[in-house]
Amino acid sequence: MKKLDGKNVLVTGASSGIGRAIAIRFAEEGANVAINYRSGSEQAEITRTMVRDAYTATGRPDRRELLVQADVGNEDQVRAMFAGVLSEFGRLDVLVNNAGIQKAAASQEIEMADFDRVLNVNIRGPFLCAREAIRHFLSRPGGGVILNNSSVHETIPKPKYLPYSVSKGGLENMTRTLALEYAGRGIRVNAVGPGAVVTPINRAWIDDPKARGEVESHIPMGRAACPEEIASVFAFLASEDASYITGQTLYACGGLTLYPEFRTAWSSGE
Ligand code: NAD
Repeated sequence: MKKLDGKNVLVTGASSGIGRAIAIRFAEEGANVAINYRSGSEQAEITRTMVRDAYTATGRPDRRELLVQADVGNEDQVRAMFAGVLSEFGRLDVLVNNAGIQKAAASQEIEMADFDRVLNVNIRGPFLCAREAIRHFLSRPGGGVILNNSSVHETIPKPKYLPYSVSKGGLENMTRTLALEYAGRGIRVNAVGPGAVVTPINRAWIDDPKARGEVESHIPMGRAACPEEIASVFAFLASEDASYITGQTLYACGGLTLYPEFRTAWSSGE
């Protein structure tokens, strides 16, 4: 049996990158997938087509997908999104808080509008969606799963990206706090911490061999991840295979959290 057979899932920011890969992987695992996007439906339509192709390829053309437009930082839009998903699917089993943004600036130059924008998408968004999901999970038997797309920058500082770094650090605490608060009521809350992944958020280096080589030289495994390698971790954490795991961040980072500078014993002079 597929890992997520018949489960109903909502993935935020699923019109590109890791979110798209999660939507496709969850479809391959038998889930009905609601694909959230913020604006411009063309990219979301591409995800929808790929999800449908996954249903066909896995012999489950009866599975359903849904496109749901909403800015995850906007309370009214998030409530309307959940109302739409629940009216279409009847029930939600898994929420994936994937949407996220970043903006580079030296900390002394950060515009407060940019600071607020990043926190709005990366912290307020996951909370608003988690709150709606929890309200629904508590309204019927069976519990549920919430997964957050965090980052290695949950724990590794990221100079010149302070709002992003702060947001992912906060997401760790949100993951752990919600996990503890609802562990006794059948709700598991976990996060995935990707390292460098080949997606549009990294457009600055993914298509430039020199810049990409520089990025990858810092990764112990010597390469960036493809989005599918992150989506598979989400599929695991969403499934019954992870039934006893809650409050954790599972890093999928090619070794980035292992203090790569210590690959050699430089501190001991050897
Ligand atoms: P991406 O830019 O392709 O995806 C981000 C998605 O979020 C986009 O589809 C975007 O439209 C959506 N989004 C942005 N603001 C939104 C809003 N207000 N409401 C709804 N959707 C919104 O980049 P990605 O790499 O796929 O990023 C996905 C997640 O993975 C982010 O949370 C990011 O922080 C995290 N992440 C990425 C990497 C990486 O190297 N690519 C590493 C660690 C963590």
